[in-house]
Amino acid sequence: MTKVKRKYQSLQAVQADLFNNKIQLVELVNYYLNQIEATKELNAYVEVYAEEAQKRALELEQNFKRKPDSVGKLFGMVIAIKDVICYKNHEITAASKILEGFTSVFSATAIERLLEEDAIIIGRVNCDQFAMGSTNENSIYGTVKNAIDNERVAGGSSGGSAVAVQADTCLAALGSDTGGSVRQPAAFCGNIGFKPTYGRISRYGLIAYASSFDQIGVISDSIYDAAILLEIMAGSDEYDSTASEKAVPSYSKKLAFNGNAKIAYFDTALNHESLDAEIRQSTYDLIEDLKSKGNTVEAVPFDLLEFLIPAYYVLTTAEASSNLARFDGIRYGYRSPNATNFEETYLKSRTEGFSEEVKRRILLGTFVLSSGYYDAYYTKAQKVRRLITERTNAILAEYDFILMPTAPTTAFKIGNSLKDPVAMYLADVYTVQANLTGIPAVSLPLGIHTDGLPFGVQFFGNKFEEEKLLAFANAIVND
Ligand code: GLN
Repeated sequence: MTKVKRKYQSLQAVQADLFNNKIQLVELVNYYLNQIEATKELNAYVEVYAEEAQKRALELEQNFKRKPDSVGKLFGMVIAIKDVICYKNHEITAASKILEGFTSVFSATAIERLLEEDAIIIGRVNCDQFAMGSTNENSIYGTVKNAIDNERVAGGSSGGSAVAVQADTCLAALGSDTGGSVRQPAAFCGNIGFKPTYGRISRYGLIAYASSFDQIGVISDSIYDAAILLEIMAGSDEYDSTASEKAVPSYSKKLAFNGNAKIAYFDTALNHESLDAEIRQSTYDLIEDLKSKGNTVEAVPFDLLEFLIPAYYVLTTAEASSNLARFDGIRYGYRSPNATNFEETYLKSRTEGFSEEVKRRILLGTFVLSSGYYDAYYTKAQKVRRLITERTNAILAEYDFILMPTAPTTAFKIGNSLKDPVAMYLADVYTVQANLTGIPAVSLPLGIHTDGLPFGVQFFGNKFEEEKLLAFANAIVND
């Protein structure tokens, strides 16, 4: 019931040992495979690529011995990937029955870039179905358990990714973040969770939930690992027109933060009734600490907090209802054996293939897009999104960062969330702003609650200012 002590906290430490012959890559992979086996009951992995990872480790190791200078930047990086990111010739299901048995015929651009730099993918990890949820209880593979307290959730939707890192079964894990799915589970498990600017990493090969919000993110134990993974994955891509053409800085080499930062926070957020008292206190303590070190930290007005969740859920369900139309029982995965005609094939495959939560969102999304309601919900939510973006950008024009709790509470008890979906939606209050506006955000471990569980704090940065955000985060983490 305590935090697992990690063998390595960053790629730098791994590479130091590899280059000095203190450990062999195969040994490292075997260590992680043993950890996966030893923590199986946490249910983080849905598939382990044991033999493949060992074989690749051996090849990379031999290559390193022959030509030490030719190793890729990610030599020694062992990662797990969320079950929504395509990996050629490997199964991918989005934790849904509707895709059970489906094998991807291509790799996501992000995956291809990681492999080119010698990363090793050790397995596919659990998540909420189609990345919809905050607890990883909404999965055909069952609930992921928090390694610190097995009666608590891991968070979601990238719960498997967070626990894979927490339980030291890999060095880092990829997740996806549409409304907090990388940052919130990272906070619940005591890890770092990083979501880049919308469009920084190609979404090609990421199963779409809400396309104007989705972004691949990293869960790790060091900012260095988040930075180096970002610098490899980021950049333009002919397969994703929303992937930015902006040059990609060498984030991992620019992790020194010079000078002091100007940071804004919202009273409306810190005084929010849902925020746990201990988390609030720790957040205020951090603010005082940052000030005492010379940073400027100020409360700024933000009166749009109550609109964040409604706008997010109207727009993401709308986009989801459209994105998920492709799962029709004909082209991919599951087809109902109970259908006797064409229409029934659609109807029954989708009824039987999707979970309750996914169907709830498709229905909601279809409703807000239907004629007669479109203007009242969808158009209005778009306008609200614009107001939120304008206000956020105005704040970030004056301040380097916005400071925000990651989640109002520590990890929920398993089973609690299923009773009240709206209560669960409301718990995303602190994370969705970054996705509504497309800005980068990082969640850092802040403290341990008296209930024994970790909690986090977030920093938001300006669009495409990952360099500054990661450098500042690095200073805090190493303080
Ligand atoms: N909890 C949020 C939701 O259910 C976030 C999901 C995500 O970021 N993928 O929509």
